[in-house]
Amino acid sequence: MKAKIRKGDTVEVISGRLQDKGKRGEVIRMLPAEGRVVVQGINLRKKNQKETRTQGRQSLSPGIIEFEAPISISNVMLVCPVCSQVTRVGIMRSETDIQRVCKKCQARFD
Ligand SMILES: [Zn+2]
Repeated sequence: MKAKIRKGDTVEVISGRLQDKGKRGEVIRMLPAEGRVVVQGINLRKKNQKETRTQGRQSLSPGIIEFEAPISISNVMLVCPVCSQVTRVGIMRSETDIQRVCKKCQARFD
């Protein structure tokens, strides 16, 4: 896995929990050590937030908060920014640069 998906990319859920399958969202966090990504609006969990006070930070107000739980990177595929199709990503190397290539429309991006 060499950075075929990056923060800020749009991805589509291809497997995993049924209700999120087929949904698209932006990658908001990469967890490379765990092979997971956090995708905006995907795999939402609710948690009860008790009022907490941490040093130097604002206290969080109590209540139910929703947050995106990480999902396995193998459960998502990149959505090409050019053709908007779910695609495999190729890597093009030149002497100075590494660019990703959409295998559907052959567009290079980055
Ligand atoms: Zn494309």
